[in-house]
Amino acid sequence: MEDALFWAAAQDGIYCAKSGYQFLQEKVSRSSPSSSSAPTLSEAQWCLFWKSPAFPRCKQLAWRVWVGAVPVRHSLRRRGLDIDPCCAICGVEEETLDHLFLRCEVVRATWFGTELGVRIDDGVSFHAFMGQVLQTRDKEVVAAVQTVLCAIWEARNKVVFEGYEFRWRNVVSRFQSLVCPFDPGAGTTRDAGDRRAHTTRWRRPPRGRVKMNIDAATNQSKIAGFGCVARDYNGDILAAASLFPTVVLSATLGEALSLRWAMVLATQLGFRRVQFETDSLLLHRAWKKRRGSSILFTVIAYCFNLMHLFDYVDLSFVRREGNSAADFMARNASSLSNVVWVEEGPPGLTAILNSDVLASVPS
Ligand SMILES: [Zn+2]
Repeated sequence: MEDALFWAAAQDGIYCAKSGYQFLQEKVSRSSPSSSSAPTLSEAQWCLFWKSPAFPRCKQLAWRVWVGAVPVRHSLRRRGLDIDPCCAICGVEEETLDHLFLRCEVVRATWFGTELGVRIDDGVSFHAFMGQVLQTRDKEVVAAVQTVLCAIWEARNKVVFEGYEFRWRNVVSRFQSLVCPFDPGAGTTRDAGDRRAHTTRWRRPPRGRVKMNIDAATNQSKIAGFGCVARDYNGDILAAASLFPTVVLSATLGEALSLRWAMVLATQLGFRRVQFETDSLLLHRAWKKRRGSSILFTVIAYCFNLMHLFDYVDLSFVRREGNSAADFMARNASSLSNVVWVEEGPPGLTAILNSDVLASVPS
């Protein structure tokens, strides 16, 4: 392929002032000695962070917590203010970002009391926690977390400036009032509900076609495991494979590279009519769009170049629940040692295959 230039800080590879500003903000916050050393997030993670359906001020607050720019007492003391460093809520431990937003006892109760039902582990740092949240790749989860953070900060300020008591039930109610506009259960039309059910479960391919589910599991060090499972119209397994490790620039790029890998593998297995299936909406959109100016599209272009090796090929989208088999192969790629299983799969996969078959109606 010919070389091309892309602006790495934007999802589409095209420079705009907003992404330039965000890029500089991150650079400043990284180099500023007074801020905490926030780990860098991938382009896809920032995209998820800023495009979540939370209120802008919740996202901004979450971002300020991420870069260490929220004036908790520990930070204020480090800047030379002579104040009590103890947590405004419990009065026992030092008010650091990790303590105030996660570890303080009443705050833990708050997290658990929300619809998220999160149990905060003892030693967890805010950065590790937020990293896990972003790994869900679920906009609504990210939005809910950003909103809880905002509700905690509001309640903490009421304690400090208005003498209120911090009650976790009140914070949870406040969270619920802020979260309402993007509650998936509220305000969705019946159509959207139907479409959701439609793409949630794995479905069998039509007779004569192979369905190959693909997935990539990318960890925080940007090391990805790839997985794929091929099945026929009966739901019987034709092949399963995994590949580990591949270094990727972003999770979406990992998904695209797993498609390229699966396409090559499908030709080696002699599959001529293949329906590939991904749970990455971004990859599916890029496939439909076909042309674009980002590094993602160079991989898509490579995949399209392989199309002449097939009689039929397409890429469909299914929600994560319907892609469990490929997800299993990708997540366990490091221990499955790059074996291609023909007409069977590794132990542990059978249960997933069975539940997919039972849940799918022949089409
Ligand atoms: Zn506390």
